[in-house]
Amino acid sequence: MSEVLIFGHKNPDTDTVCSAIVYNNLKRLQGMDTEAVVLGEINDETRYSLEYFRVDVPRIVTEVTEGQKVILVDHNEMQQSVVGIEKAVIKEVIDHHKIANFETAVPLYFRAEPLGCTATILKKIYEEQGVDINKTMAGLMLSAIISDSLLFKSPTCTLRDKIAAEDLAKIAGINLEEYGLAMLKAGANTKDKTIKELIDVDAKEFILNNDKLVIAQINTIDTKEVTDRQKELEETIYQEISNKSLSAFVFVVTNILTSDSEVLVLGDKKEKVASAFGKSLENNLMTLKGVVSRKKQVVPPITEEFNK
Ligand code: MN
Ligand code: MN
Repeated sequence: MSEVLIFGHKNPDTDTVCSAIVYNNLKRLQGMDTEAVVLGEINDETRYSLEYFRVDVPRIVTEVTEGQKVILVDHNEMQQSVVGIEKAVIKEVIDHHKIANFETAVPLYFRAEPLGCTATILKKIYEEQGVDINKTMAGLMLSAIISDSLLFKSPTCTLRDKIAAEDLAKIAGINLEEYGLAMLKAGANTKDKTIKELIDVDAKEFILNNDKLVIAQINTIDTKEVTDRQKELEETIYQEISNKSLSAFVFVVTNILTSDSEVLVLGDKKEKVASAFGKSLENNLMTLKGVVSRKKQVVPPITEEFNK
């Protein structure tokens, strides 16, 4: 096994997986003994990208042992990381999320920038270190940016992300819009997914004051395809709430064509979640127009409400 494991968050998304592979490529070119791994099954969108650029799916690691050296990409919150992370030696973090509950015993390289995607930071790092970006790595970074920015429609997307993506599309030799839409559609297939898959595919845990919440998101091109299964969804979500002692489970169904979200909220504090958006729930649901970004449009208002 390699000396240092590089990985992103649990319930891996395209940025998490591609950034681990791309950063691993750089580290190995520089002679380091690293390996890119993932913390769980990759999703359909990521699978589409890896197949398109003919890259192997990284090995799944679910736990690390004491003293394991690790590099974290696309996350820094411990509850979103690997089991055993508190005993690991974190060598580096490359991330674009808020910093929460982060503490280490030894110095490290910590790089966080408020950009739309970890891969955009990695592109800068390649350039700073004078390393050429090959077609494959360009394709992976591009996929990550398209995914995190929902093809530049998310408010998290910055001009830097857009310029980086255009640059990377040229290197990879692909049509950005065409490839991007095909990739997002591959990940927005909600019809063939089980209820558990729907709520797990992009679920993240957040600790807000003394409350633990899960905020899960799924992209779709047909919202009804998901909300038609509300009854089954609620049964499974109630189980999650009791298994994980959650104050609320927030399930965000984002339509990538209209850029609106339909949100199902369950749990003791569900009304508190709704009031964060100035809403009240109807049949446990609320509509959030123009909301596509969990990071920028969903987590901040809920955090503020729970810190009141
Ligand atoms: Mn991510
Ligand atoms: Mn990301």
